[in-house]
Amino acid sequence: MINTSNILSDSFGRKHNYLRISLTEKCNLRCTYCMPESGVVLTPKSQLMTKEEVIDMARLFVNHGVTKIRFTGGEPLLRKDFPEILKTISQLPIELSLTTNAILVDRHIETFKTCDLKTINVSLDTLHPEKFNSITKRDQFDKAFNNIQLLMDEGFNVKLNVVLMKDFNEDEIIDFINFTKDKAITVRFIEFMPFDGNQWDKSKLVSYVEVIEKVRLYFSEEELIRLPNEENFTARNFKIKGYEGSFGIISSVTNPFCDSCNRIRLTANGKLKNCLFSNTETDLLTPYREGESIESIIKDAIFKKKAVRSGMTNLEDFENLDNHSNRSMITIGG
Ligand code: SAM
Ligand code: SF4
Repeated sequence: MINTSNILSDSFGRKHNYLRISLTEKCNLRCTYCMPESGVVLTPKSQLMTKEEVIDMARLFVNHGVTKIRFTGGEPLLRKDFPEILKTISQLPIELSLTTNAILVDRHIETFKTCDLKTINVSLDTLHPEKFNSITKRDQFDKAFNNIQLLMDEGFNVKLNVVLMKDFNEDEIIDFINFTKDKAITVRFIEFMPFDGNQWDKSKLVSYVEVIEKVRLYFSEEELIRLPNEENFTARNFKIKGYEGSFGIISSVTNPFCDSCNRIRLTANGKLKNCLFSNTETDLLTPYREGESIESIIKDAIFKKKAVRSGMTNLEDFENLDNHSNRSMITIGG
């Protein structure tokens, strides 16, 4: 039964129909831009959402108008009850998706198929094994790469997420685009964002404009085709003439897309974040466990959402360290 009183609208009239649920704070990789070098203090298991609670929360949001759910983390496939969560939530009238580092994908292919999970976003920041080891601190390139190939062979719609950083992988932009030549795959270059403990610095940022400049040096005006923006887009998309795949740039730092934002996040310990950049969050799990109705709490939290990046309206705001006192990305769920 759909409840029409819209608790998922904010004061700017944005309706939030896309929920990203983090299933765990744990990960089998240690990407330096995501996981602080000192590690993270893990929430005790008793304070994390159980399988039943994840499912109940998902149902509640769907009853209030959510039409798309993405599982993320940490690494969502590390969770032992992931197949059961996926199977149950796939029965809801929603589009389901997943963001993963692909290391455990081969174990779950049949479940993905059963649950009609079609689009899978995979993080891969480099095409070179030794660079993969240095950014993820784990020797798992072959596993990740072979599983990406497996997903493509099995007909999944694969989007590769590439976080761009100066002196690390900006020299691979053209290689990644050429990777789309004969593969029906989308590569999305993501601007490096600041989170707690990830040593963000403006000088490490590779901006949307810099990506386009590099692309224009290599491909002609005629070869570079701008694709139409999707509804509630985060990526500005392009394709090279004659290439099977496409690429996009997610410019959360230099050119945000907040006007059409429809996304909200639920952390593994049941906190609602109305914006990725917000350093405040709203506890839903405690009142839920105490038997309270959490609808009015959700409504208040979403109504308070700021117009742009939780109040960081320009690039200078990112340089103020106080604005980095957000959780680390690994505990938010990207
Ligand atoms: N473990 C899964 C993975 O790596 O795909 C899912 C969780 S990960 C936190 C989700 C996404 O956040 C990944 O695509 C990752 O590249 C992105 N991400 C993490 N830290 C980031 C940062 N500082 N700036 C931009 N993107 C970031
Ligand atoms: Fe793990 Fe994903 Fe973060 Fe890398 S980006 S440390 S794979 S959660």
